[in-house]
Amino acid sequence: MRNKRRVATALGIDFNLHHLSAGETTDSVLELVARLNASPGVDAILVQLPLPVLIDPARVIEAVDPGKDADGFHPLNIGRLAEGRPGLALPGTPAGCMELLRHYAVPVSGARAVVIGRSTIVGRPMALLLVNANATVTICHSRTVDLPGICREADILVVAAGRPGMVDSTYVKPGACVIDVGTTLVEGKLCGDVDFDSVRQVAGHLSPVPGGVGPMTIAMLMRNTLALARARRVITD
Ligand code: NAD
Repeated sequence: MRNKRRVATALGIDFNLHHLSAGETTDSVLELVARLNASPGVDAILVQLPLPVLIDPARVIEAVDPGKDADGFHPLNIGRLAEGRPGLALPGTPAGCMELLRHYAVPVSGARAVVIGRSTIVGRPMALLLVNANATVTICHSRTVDLPGICREADILVVAAGRPGMVDSTYVKPGACVIDVGTTLVEGKLCGDVDFDSVRQVAGHLSPVPGGVGPMTIAMLMRNTLALARARRVITD
């Protein structure tokens, strides 16, 4: 959150943090969201996950006005993404991965892509963005059989399992593009899911942790915010 505030402030975006107190309930958070939805001065709302256990994240995310959905997690926006006609705001981490692929001119159309992880915030939207860009996509998860074998077929391998160091060179086709999304604190140090020193021997491109997808996620959040703010002004001006 500190980095999000820092980047937003540097860009001239008014950033207001609504810190939830210990006694907060789903209903009180829904009231806050309703106030922000109704406020003409608010262009974008981010629900920082995970929420405290007593608060239902699905109800809170669904309550956000889809036109102020900074993270692109509202079911309407995810549904549009699934239909192949995404809205203005795309889920930040997967969109950041797509931006890395675009920036480094990694061919996506026709490529074999494998995504490890099927969460609603990373794995699933990542797979949708890749398929919308005409990749042939396989989603792997904790019950996948022969994970290394499937990963070795990938031209693009996106790893978002939250298992530090699980992907080594035996998972990687020579020349493949590997994007490490995982972030786990191990003895105070941020570790990715990819064994960097092993995979760098075979990969054509390798996005590291820290320093790869993390900053891109924040950049995409800012891009979403700008797009939502512009759209609201076009409508109301
Ligand atoms: P999650 O726990 O919701 O999902 C993890 C997924 O990985 C699940 O679908 C699970 O089936 C799969 N998985 C777990 N162990 C596996 C295994 N051994 N083999 C195959 N699949 C396995 O996590 P998430 O929210 O999707 O996040 C994934 C990782 O990405 C975490 O480390 C998280 O901290 C990180 N993350 C980073 C950013 C960023 O900005 N860099 C943003 C979001 C998440």
